[in-house]
Parts: sequence; structure tokens; C-alpha cells
Amino acid sequence: MTATYTTRFPLDKFRRLDTPFYYYDLELLRLTLATLLNEAGHDSNFKVHYAVKANANPALLRVIANAGLGADCVSGPEISRAVESGFDPAKIVYAGVGKTDREIITALDHDIFCFNVESEAELEVINQLAADRAKRARVAIRVNPDVGAHTHANITTGLAENKFGISMADLDRVIDLALNLPAIDLVGLHFHIGSQILDMTDFTALCNRINLLQERLDLRGLQLPHINVGGGLGIDYRHPERHPVPDFKAYFDTYRRHLQLRPGQTLHFEIGRAIVAQCGSLVSRVTYVKQGASKQFAILDAGMTDLIRPALYQAFHKIENISNPEAPLEAYDVVGPVCESSDVFGKDVELPATHRGDLILLRSAGAYGEIMASGYNCRPLPLSYTSDSI
Ligand SMILES: *Cc1c(COP(=O)(O)O)cnc(C)c1O
Repeated sequence: MTATYTTRFPLDKFRRLDTPFYYYDLELLRLTLATLLNEAGHDSNFKVHYAVKANANPALLRVIANAGLGADCVSGPEISRAVESGFDPAKIVYAGVGKTDREIITALDHDIFCFNVESEAELEVINQLAADRAKRARVAIRVNPDVGAHTHANITTGLAENKFGISMADLDRVIDLALNLPAIDLVGLHFHIGSQILDMTDFTALCNRINLLQERLDLRGLQLPHINVGGGLGIDYRHPERHPVPDFKAYFDTYRRHLQLRPGQTLHFEIGRAIVAQCGSLVSRVTYVKQGASKQFAILDAGMTDLIRPALYQAFHKIENISNPEAPLEAYDVVGPVCESSDVFGKDVELPATHRGDLILLRSAGAYGEIMASGYNCRPLPLSYTSDSI
């Protein structure tokens, strides 16, 4: 299903606000969640967890928790934030290569659903900390499936060279350890191959790999109740208005078609970007338009401290001038004020003739935007507003 939907930007309200700030369209978030739950199938054996690291803004977390999703966390503070925002601890999964004792204790105190374990040493520490509290910890082993993803090198996670998970060669040994540790309940296997994946054949490759692994488990008579395939579904950064809601149907159908689940198995997903990216925009003002020797620059009051994705991953965000949409187009390098040459949002961007004070949108900024903001150059963190609160 391709939902048609257009975000409305309340220009007169924006004009009265200090910039930069994030603006979240909660109507679009609700539509995205409704579509996702519909395509996953209500009351099916597909369970979706929201990857909190994509955006932990409390207003968004409340909407997502209310929709009934679980939470996928990668730190102790994320677990605390998720619980405070209304997520059911019985639907929280927790991954990460470097879980500290304090973070593991936070997870145990909340009786979360499952630890996604990334090493034998971690397994032993979780066992000890659980035993000290007379608890048992449910764990899934995070397997590095050595499956590539057609995405940016910095956001592939399922290749043998990446730091994540346990290699297929070591898996049997780690399973033996998990089965023998008294305070550990081995309940599943976990995978996550990367992010911003639009080629469904990458997910098919993961399914094929999991099918092989499950046959290996069958041979040793082991049936695990949970399979977790992580997240990674991408979004259309070039055309946010054409594809406001990601193609969840194609995504879930890929798993329905290619993954051979055993009877009674539950399939878990950890989706971040695809849930929140399109509902968010970074709103800023043009501070100066400057003529260079060969090009002109539009210098914004937002910079890489507010949205680091272009500087970090050469990521594309659609840029729009909403103050003067009908003016004739000119080319600008759109840059921030931070003292780094990589503080560039886009080069040779065609914008309507742009002036000091114009309001500029950086679209599709709801995921890995606000949450990655920093205070470099002593810049304040960006504010945020929602369509409900503005
Ligand atoms: C980041 C991450 C996700 C979410 O990835 P998206 O591309 O935002 O869907 C899911 N699972 C794990 C383990 C992650 O690290």
C-alpha cells in the first residue's frame, strides 16, 4: 500500500519561532505506525520493536508506545527512557557490543524481554549479575551472518569484518555455553545486517542464511522460540512527498516468503529509521547569502551539530525554501555555520532565489537527526515541536 499524505508546514507559526528546531508531523507518524501494524498483521507472529536510537524524543516515544510496539534499546539509559515513555518492559530487547555491568543491571531490574548477546564474555557477565539477583536472564545470541547490504559502508553491520555479533563458526560453542549457564535462558537468535536498505534481496539473503542456521539447529535437536531479524528498512530521502510511508508490505512479504519459521516461532523486527524519518524536518533560517568566486552559498543557522548525517555519511536530505517557493531557481551550496569544511548540507542545490531570513527545511530528518545533535562550538541543542504541540 502506498499511502498518499502531504505534511503541512505551518509557516506563520514557524515565523514566530527561534530557529533551528525539529518539527515532527505526528499525523504522519500515526499513519506510518497504522500502516506498519496492518502490514505486519495484527495478532500475527510478527512482533515489531521500535529502535529507540533512531529518535528518543519523548513526544514520539509516547505515540509509538501507545501504538503497542516494543522497544529495541542499545544502552541502559535508552531502556530507562523507553520505560518512562510507556513501553512495556516485557517487550524490550537490548543489543550492544559493550553492555556495562550497570546497564545490564538496569535491564535485569526492569525484567526486559531479552538481551541480544554479542560475546561469550558478555554471556558470562549477564549470567553472574542475574544469579546475584536470583533472576534468570532471557538471551538471544546475535549472529553475524556475513551478509552484505547495499548501503553506505558505515552502516553495514552484518559483514564478518564488522564488530557486531558472533561468527557462524563460533555459534555452536556459544550456544553450548548459553545452555550450560544456570541463570541464562537461551530463547532465540538475533541478526541485524545494516541500515537504509532498499533492496529487498538483501533481506532475502539474510532469510536464506537463517534457514541454513535453523537446519543446523534442527540437527542438534534445538528449537528456539524467537528469531529476531533486526531492522534496516530504508526510506526515500529524494522524494519524501512521493513516499511518505515506507513500503512495509514489500518488507514483511519478503520475510513471509523467504524465511522458514518453525511452528510456534515468533519473528521479531527492530525498525528505527522507517518509522520516524519521514515525519521529521529540521527547520532553519538563512543567516547570509554569500557570493563566492564561482558559486553562491546559503549559510543557515542550522549546522552539522543539529543534523550530522550529511557530514558523517554523505547523506542526502531534500532542502526546501518555504518562504519564497515561487521565485526563480538558482544554485546554492547550502552550508552551516560550524567551523568544519564538512559542515555542508548540499552542493549545487536548486532553490528559489534565497534571501537572509528565509525559512529552510531539511526534510526526512526524523531518524538519526535530533538524537545525534552535539554541542560542538558551544552551540545549544536544537529545540523540537510537534504538529500537536506547536
Ligand atoms: C540501529 C539498529 C536497528 C535499527 O536500524 P534502522 O536502520 O534504523 O531500522 C535495529 N537493530 C539494531 C541491533 C540496531 O543496532
